[in-house]
Amino acid sequence: MRRAGRIVAGTIDRVLEAVRPNMTTAELDEVAESFIREQGATPSFKGYGAGPGRVPFPASICTSINQEIVHGIPSAERTVAEGDLLKLDFGAIWEGFHGDSAVTVIVGEPASADADKLVRVTEEALEAGIAQIRPGGRLSDIGAAVEQVAQGAGFEVVREYVGHGIGRNLHEDPQIPNYGRPGRGPVLKPGLVVAVEPMVNAGGWETSVLPDGWTVVTEDGSLSAHFEHTIAVTEDGHEVLTARG
Ligand code: MG
Ligand code: MG
Repeated sequence: MRRAGRIVAGTIDRVLEAVRPNMTTAELDEVAESFIREQGATPSFKGYGAGPGRVPFPASICTSINQEIVHGIPSAERTVAEGDLLKLDFGAIWEGFHGDSAVTVIVGEPASADADKLVRVTEEALEAGIAQIRPGGRLSDIGAAVEQVAQGAGFEVVREYVGHGIGRNLHEDPQIPNYGRPGRGPVLKPGLVVAVEPMVNAGGWETSVLPDGWTVVTEDGSLSAHFEHTIAVTEDGHEVLTARG
C-alpha cells in the first residue's frame, strides 16, 4: 500500500505540473493515466462502478470544477479556466492494493479571496482529521475534527459522501463521515488503512448528481473543495501513504 500511495502521490505531482488555463480535463486524465501505467500500476477509477443500469466511470481521474464536488468526468469538451477551483481525485492499484488521494487547486492566478480560503480551510480540515489517527483513537474523532475546522471557518461539510477504509478494494468498511461527535465508533488499530476526504462547501452541505450519473454538485451552486489522503494506522500513530514531496 506504501507503493500504491507513492504512485498516486507521483501522479498528482505530474498533473499539477501540467495543469494550466485552457487545458481540457481529458488532457489531464491522459497525463495521469500515462504516468500510472508507466509505473506498472493500474488506475483504480477506470471502469469503477459497473453494474446493472449503471455506467462505469470512464476515466482514470475525477476532475470536478467549481460547484462540482467530486466524481466529475474528464472530457475533451471541457477546459479549465483561470480562477477555476479544480478538484483532482486519483487512485492507483499496485499488486492488488489501492491508493486514493485528492487535491484542490485554483487554476492560474489570482484567485478570489473566498476560493483561496475555502481551499486552505479544507486542507487544514484534512490535516486535523489525520492528526486524530492513532491506535486507541476512535473512528468518529476523525470526522469531528474535520467538521470543527470547516464549520469554525463558516463552511459546511458534505454529509452524503464520506471517507472509507481502503485496501484490496477502493472502498471498504468503515465509512468515515466528515462530521459527528468524537469518541464513537470502532477503536483504531494498527494495520487499518483509511482514506480521509473532507468535501467542504462554501454554502450548504446538500448535494445532487448531474444527469451523467456521476458528477456530484452543490445543491445551491456554491463552491466546493476536496482533499484526500490514504493513511495507515501504525503502532505509534499513523503514516500518510499518499504524502507528496
Ligand atoms: Mg479519492
Ligand atoms: Mg476516496
